[in-house]
Amino acid sequence: MSEESALREQICLLAKSLFDRGLTHGSTGNISARTEDGGLLVSPTGTSFGRLDPGRLSRFDASGAHVAGDKPTKEMPLHTAFYDTRNTAGAVVHLHSCHSVALSMLPGADPDNFLPPLTPYGIMKLGKVQLLPFFLPGDPAMGEAVRGLAGKRSAVMLANHGPVVAGKDVEAACNAIEELEDTARLALMTRGMQPQGLTEDQVRAVVTKFDVAWDD
Ligand SMILES: [Zn+2]
Repeated sequence: MSEESALREQICLLAKSLFDRGLTHGSTGNISARTEDGGLLVSPTGTSFGRLDPGRLSRFDASGAHVAGDKPTKEMPLHTAFYDTRNTAGAVVHLHSCHSVALSMLPGADPDNFLPPLTPYGIMKLGKVQLLPFFLPGDPAMGEAVRGLAGKRSAVMLANHGPVVAGKDVEAACNAIEELEDTARLALMTRGMQPQGLTEDQVRAVVTKFDVAWDD
């Protein structure tokens, strides 16, 4: 199997895994990955994560021209904003995942650091997650908001909509977005119960030990 065929299969397999576990539903969510030649593979518009077809993924060349496959997701500007500002980004995933969306609607969120420090993995895999305001679906302003972060964040949360996470490859991006959703779930489960999250010293120790970009 060629490297690109393997990447196409991996995108569809991991998308289906996310769908099968209820991490995004219906035709929501989109995913993209860098190809070896500097182009992109992107999930097509209106498709379900449960039924992506490896042969029909939208294919872009290194200049950004759509060269094959179906029409891409309308949330394409979000994806290109990450690739253009983070040269470490090899894949981008966006979900409409229930718990993180719920948390984005509640009062008291810190836009600069959306997730409370509950577990070390949330910090290690995501760094600080930026909460962005609500935008109409497909609004190019979403991409502009990501560009405004100048590559300092690998993960953002679109209020009332869903998270978007970049990773070095498809697997890393999927693992990180699952961590985001799971941390949001923990935050909701323990809300109002005075949970003992990590202390500032514990957060700092995690950041130092695992070399997390935290202070930008
Ligand atoms: Zn969306």
